[in-house]
Amino acid sequence: MAEQFDVVIIGAGPAGYVAAIRAAQLGLKTACVDAFVGKDGKASPGGTCLNVGCIPSKALLDSSKHFHHLSAQYKDHGIQASDVRMDISTMLGRKDKIVKNLTGGITQLFKANKVSSYAGLGRLLAGNKVEVTQHTGGDPLLLEARHVILASGSTPISIPNVAFDGHYIIDNQGALDLPEVPKRLCVIGAGVIGLELGSVWKRLGAQVLVLEAMDTFLGACDQDIARAAQKEFKKQGLDIRLGCKVQRAEVKDGQVHVSYLDKDGEKVEIFDRLLVAVGRRAMTDGLLGDNTGVVINARGQIEVDAHCATAVPGVWAIGDCVRGAMLAHKGSEEGVAVVELIAGKAGHVNYSTIPWVIYTEPEIAWVGLNEAECKAAEIPYKIGTFPFAAIGRAQAAGDTSGLVKVIAHAETDRLLGVHMVGLNVSELIAEAVVAMEFHASAEDLARIVHAHPTMSEAVHEAALALDKRAIHRMN
Ligand code: FAD
Ligand code: AMP
Repeated sequence: MAEQFDVVIIGAGPAGYVAAIRAAQLGLKTACVDAFVGKDGKASPGGTCLNVGCIPSKALLDSSKHFHHLSAQYKDHGIQASDVRMDISTMLGRKDKIVKNLTGGITQLFKANKVSSYAGLGRLLAGNKVEVTQHTGGDPLLLEARHVILASGSTPISIPNVAFDGHYIIDNQGALDLPEVPKRLCVIGAGVIGLELGSVWKRLGAQVLVLEAMDTFLGACDQDIARAAQKEFKKQGLDIRLGCKVQRAEVKDGQVHVSYLDKDGEKVEIFDRLLVAVGRRAMTDGLLGDNTGVVINARGQIEVDAHCATAVPGVWAIGDCVRGAMLAHKGSEEGVAVVELIAGKAGHVNYSTIPWVIYTEPEIAWVGLNEAECKAAEIPYKIGTFPFAAIGRAQAAGDTSGLVKVIAHAETDRLLGVHMVGLNVSELIAEAVVAMEFHASAEDLARIVHAHPTMSEAVHEAALALDKRAIHRMN
């Protein structure tokens, strides 16, 4: 006899586990099935994000930043350190501890909220049933639910003739666990993951070459911001080559031979390791039984409507396995919205105010439309920019790179997008998200009091600059 639930969720990444907790808060009898197994061989909820994505990458970004600053930048502050050494195993151990802490935290939250948790593979069967093949073995369990939420996440894409081997040719998971700093590291793909993980190993001393097929750097980003970031990365010695399409990679005598095509023809370079970071695809392998009625689209994603409903009543899908940005917070908000709809509340995600962040140094962050998107949509717009170089707090911090760019509607003054590159803009973007969520105008941002001295003054000044009223710079 199948156990009955109001909601069964497949996947405990940031989409699935947040949906499970919110569902339980709403009084729904909830189960969550997740297949992820941690390094200790035990179930490890939290998905890609907590185990091998957002969190461990930020742990290593922070460790490598401290190492780099101590070795290269503290001198300017009058602080000198000699014999700066790194202990990679401590650094990786620290990262693993953070992961264990957070994934263990989800297990505790599930217990506290009375979410039934199953460690194993979930498969949707016709008629809103979920079959669970538990890691502990035995016969599969059958769960039955009024609603099933598919939150199976995503997995790295590989490219033809470049096969992952888990040692020389690696994905994000491998790049978070390199036991030593490679002398030469090649990264395929100058996207978010390639830039972040490339930065980690560059700061720890590797020579890093990033090969990117497109001719434009960070095409999804406002190009004023992308250019400013590219200039900074170049100064740091991060070698990013655009218009280079990798054709194949082979391991010979313990080194990776990478062949790529650029405008001059085919080239081959040799590296100690190759990180393939060419994007991720929705993970739906083995997820659907026969005749479920759930549709997988041409891009391999689960087809859903604007409210994350599939074609089958009572079956929903959220997070990386459906259309839209592959971002943890996007999935989490979809999870909350879906269970609120199930509970008869007004669940909704405002997709136009989802912030994007790239945690390089300087950081890159944006929300809303960029200038190219305004042009393409023929929206009349005006722009205000302000460089961090003219901000006292940036000078005090010793990091004046980057700028803020505010885009507003030329006639209504409503904010269309806010774009930033600079120190800690991952935190600064929240102000712009709140402003846009409340349909603020650029004038609203210009009239809000910003604390002095803070980096946020650049947002204020950029909004003022929109009407040539910036104070600390000639307009
Ligand atoms: P996932 O986190 O992928 O979770 C899905 C879970 O479902 C997994 O545990 C999987 O094992 C499980 N599963 C799949 N199929 C089944 C099945 N049949 N049965 C049972 N369980 C199953 N995003 C950000 O917003 N900020 C960042 O800083 C950021 N950094 C990143 C850094 C890296 C290196 C990577 C790789 C990604 C990063 N991302 C970041 C993206 C982010 O990790 C994803 O957008 C997010 O994890 C998606 O959440 P999800 O719940 O949809 O899927
Ligand atoms: P993202 O999707 O943001 O993770 O970025 C992945 C990047 O990898 C994109 O900018 C792609 O253009 C790039 N890419 C994909 N295939 C190749 C390839 N064969 N060689 C070089 N870059 C690639």
